[in-house]
Amino acid sequence: MNLLSQSHRAEQAETIAPRGQPEHESAGFNLTDSLTGLGNSARFFDKVARLIDDRAADPAPFAIGIVGLDGFKPINDLFGRDAGNDILQQAALRLQAAMDEHSVVTRFGGDQFAILMPMVFQDAAARMKSAMLTEVLSAPYDVGARAARLSASVGCSLFQSGDETPEVLINKAETALYHAKRMSRGSIVVYSQQMEAAAQRTTSIEQALRRAVATGDVEPHFQPIVDLTSRQAIGFECLARWTDRDLGFVSPSDFIPIAEERGIIGPLSQHLLSKATEAAYAWPEHLFLSFNLSPSQLVDQNTGLQILSILNKTGFDPRRLEIEITETGVMSDPASAEKIVTDLRSVGIRVSLDDFGTGQSSLSRLRDFQFDKLKIDRAFVSSILDDKPSEHIVRAIIAMCDGLGIDVVAEGIEQEEQAERLVDFGCGGGQGYLFGKPCNSASTLGYLREAFLGASQKIS
Ligand code: C2E
Ligand code: MG
Ligand code: MG
Repeated sequence: MNLLSQSHRAEQAETIAPRGQPEHESAGFNLTDSLTGLGNSARFFDKVARLIDDRAADPAPFAIGIVGLDGFKPINDLFGRDAGNDILQQAALRLQAAMDEHSVVTRFGGDQFAILMPMVFQDAAARMKSAMLTEVLSAPYDVGARAARLSASVGCSLFQSGDETPEVLINKAETALYHAKRMSRGSIVVYSQQMEAAAQRTTSIEQALRRAVATGDVEPHFQPIVDLTSRQAIGFECLARWTDRDLGFVSPSDFIPIAEERGIIGPLSQHLLSKATEAAYAWPEHLFLSFNLSPSQLVDQNTGLQILSILNKTGFDPRRLEIEITETGVMSDPASAEKIVTDLRSVGIRVSLDDFGTGQSSLSRLRDFQFDKLKIDRAFVSSILDDKPSEHIVRAIIAMCDGLGIDVVAEGIEQEEQAERLVDFGCGGGQGYLFGKPCNSASTLGYLREAFLGASQKIS
């Protein structure tokens, strides 16, 4: 069903009337999206190019916005493809109805719509229009007898000077949308110069990281996880460390998300797990190795096999390996994550829920998924001494894990008093600078030799 009437489309074409040049459609290009009846991305490029031409003599600004539906894929998977198509058609209708007659609404592809706003001259106005669109799109969608809810994020850019091409303007809006998506759901971002610098840094990190993975220059470091009562190490978490010759030290909080987005996380993770299990092989046998998996690895069904093949090669006992996953990781595709978790657990690998309390998951995940351990996020632990709500939350998590038969580790312990308070609450495990910062494999081995000197365990 085409939702956009012929007359409305004619109106759109008139909004930025062709100047002498025929529209591409008449030259044989398809400019219409068959699902929604809106113009497609080719039409959007064409309309932007024409408006830039129009404004050549009088370079008044105008805005474009790219609207991305948040969480469309899970809804598509949950309700089915036809329902997904229905939602896109309803979204198209809403956007079309919400915009004035000067604007052009197109389907940009997948779950994205692009909007040309010739009468929007400033950032603030672009934000206001976008806020109105996110509002309109957040109302429930009819899907058969049920209703689905989703939100939308918007990235905008403003045409400021005659030098800008449609490609540049659209790239900027896409960059802004990318930033919006990395914030919370329903965010609106207008492109700025700082984003350009951030985008360039991301590209340099990506390129340098690709080289570092190929040459094996990302190193596993290890941070002790201790039994809070005895203060003895029970295992180590592997944390990636990378110093590039040009960029210097790059934090994993910066390069891991880039590795995920640019498709490098698989090879990076395999390289790290090989090195980490080789190092951990030399530790006393009762110590486990905890390894972080990224959300995107939980939607890739090869992940389990790749982990097993590395363990096979290095001879590391799967029962000594723990995999840390986050609530967000479980959220993006619960069915896929559950299959991977089940496969890993079937060979004796233990699975922890990392950074608990900060993600978007619901408590029902703890019922549906079988976790062996839960790690309480540093955000709660660091304020446990002076913030009553944090204390209550930590106590409730510990009690819940006790009931569920799940081990608990408190992350980010920096002070002795925090550790003591956690012991009082019945927390079994702890991790943090109080017990040790992440160290390379040689220093970790040195630490273990000292810690277990004279003990019966053999350290090779
Ligand atoms: P995470 O898995 O929650 O790791 C704990 C982070 O907290 C680490 O930061 C660690 O250095 C830091 N930390 C530990 N104790 C303390 C403390 O007492 N105080 C403070 N302020 N911080 C503490 P790091 O190494 O910068 O890693 C950040 C995040 O990057 C990790 O959070 C994890 O999500 C990710 N990451 C690191 N290595 C890998 C990896 O190999 N693969 C994947 N997928 N993610 C990784
Ligand atoms: Mg972790
Ligand atoms: Mg953590």
